[in-house]
Amino acid sequence: MGRMFALAARAMGYRIHIYSPEHDAPAAQVADKEIVAEYLDLNRIREFARETAVITFEFENVPAEAARVAAEETWVRPSGGVLHVTQQRLREKTFLRDHGFPVTPFRAVRSASDLREAATALGFPAVLKTAGFGYDGKGQVKIQNESELAPAWEKIGRVEAIFEAFVPFAGELSVIGARRPNGEFKAFPVFENDHANHILDVTRCPARIPPELALQAEELARGILEALDVTGLLTVELFLTKQGGLLVNELAPRPHNSGHLTIDACVTSQFEQQLRAICNLPLGSTELRRPAAMANLLGDVWSAGKPDWPRALEDSSIKLHLYGKSAARPGRKMGHLTCAAESAEEAVRRVRDARSRLEGR
Ligand code: AMP
Repeated sequence: MGRMFALAARAMGYRIHIYSPEHDAPAAQVADKEIVAEYLDLNRIREFARETAVITFEFENVPAEAARVAAEETWVRPSGGVLHVTQQRLREKTFLRDHGFPVTPFRAVRSASDLREAATALGFPAVLKTAGFGYDGKGQVKIQNESELAPAWEKIGRVEAIFEAFVPFAGELSVIGARRPNGEFKAFPVFENDHANHILDVTRCPARIPPELALQAEELARGILEALDVTGLLTVELFLTKQGGLLVNELAPRPHNSGHLTIDACVTSQFEQQLRAICNLPLGSTELRRPAAMANLLGDVWSAGKPDWPRALEDSSIKLHLYGKSAARPGRKMGHLTCAAESAEEAVRRVRDARSRLEGR
C-alpha cells in the first residue's frame, strides 16, 4: 500500500519519507528516505515527524501512542483518534452501532461466561473474532453450535473478542471514500468482492447492484467519514444481505485491496486520492473509465516455481502490479492483475484466465 501511495505521490512531485519497522520495505524501495525503527521508538517517531509535512498510514495497527507523538510535530491524517476506533473491532462496531449505522448484532466477550451469554442472546451460527489486530480472517472462528464454543474460545487464545451473528450474505461490497479537511467528500464506485479463504480474491466494478443501492452505500460511507471526522481515505466493507440491505462489516482508514483497480480503471487512483485528501488538494474525479476487475496474486502463485509472467501478459489488456516483497509465503499478498474491458464480466474472466496461465494451468 505504502509503495503504491509513494509512486502516486512521486508522480505529483512530492518527496517521500518512510517509517517502517521492517528493512527493505516495499515502500522504501521507491522512497527518498527511510527510517527503520520500532513504532514505539518515540524519539525516532519525533525525528521522522519533524522532517515531514504530513504523515499517513498504510495500515491501521500503528500504536496510537506513535500517532499521538507524531501529531505534536506535524499533521497526522487520518488522526490518531480514527486509528484508535478502527484498530479494534469492538470499539469500531460499538462506534458504528451507537451512531446508527447498520451492523450485525454483536456482543463483547471477555470470558468464557460472556461467550455463553452472547451465544444465548444471538444464537448460531456465529463468528468469534479477536478484538484487536485482525485482518483477512485472522483471529476469527465460525461457530455452528454450543459444542464449538469452548474450542473457539481456546482457538482465539482467550483474549478480548467480539461475538457476531453470522450474516448469510448475498455478496460483499466495499466503498472507498475520501474526505478533505474542509469536508469535501468523494467516493469511488462500489466494488464487489469475492473472497477465498477469507482473503480478497477478485474485485469487480461496477458491482452487480441496483443504482439506488449503490447510492445508499455511498451515503453510508459519507456518513461514516463525517461521524469519524476523517481527513484522508476510509474504506467501508459491507455485506449485501439476502433481503437486499446493507450491513457494515469493517472499516479501514486507508486505501484498500479492493480499490487497486482504480489505478488502471479510474480517472484518479485511490492512492492519488489519499494524497489529495491529506495534502488538502481538491479531490480527483472517481469516474470509472471502463468496467474492470482485479485478481490478487498471493504467495501461493509461486508454489510451483517462478510464475510464468509472459504467459499472463499474452492478453494485452492485462496489467501486472508486483509489490517488491522478497518472500512469497502462502496467503501473502505479492501483487495483482487488473483488466479493463467491455463489461465487468469479461474483465473478471480475463484476470482469472491470466492468473491461471501464470500458474501454468
Ligand atoms: P473480517 O476480518 O472481519 O473482515 O472478516 C473477513 C471475512 O470473513 C469477511 O470478508 C467475510 O467473508 C467473513 N465474515 C466476517 N464476519 C462475518 C459475519 N458476521 N458473518 C458472515 N461472514 C463474516
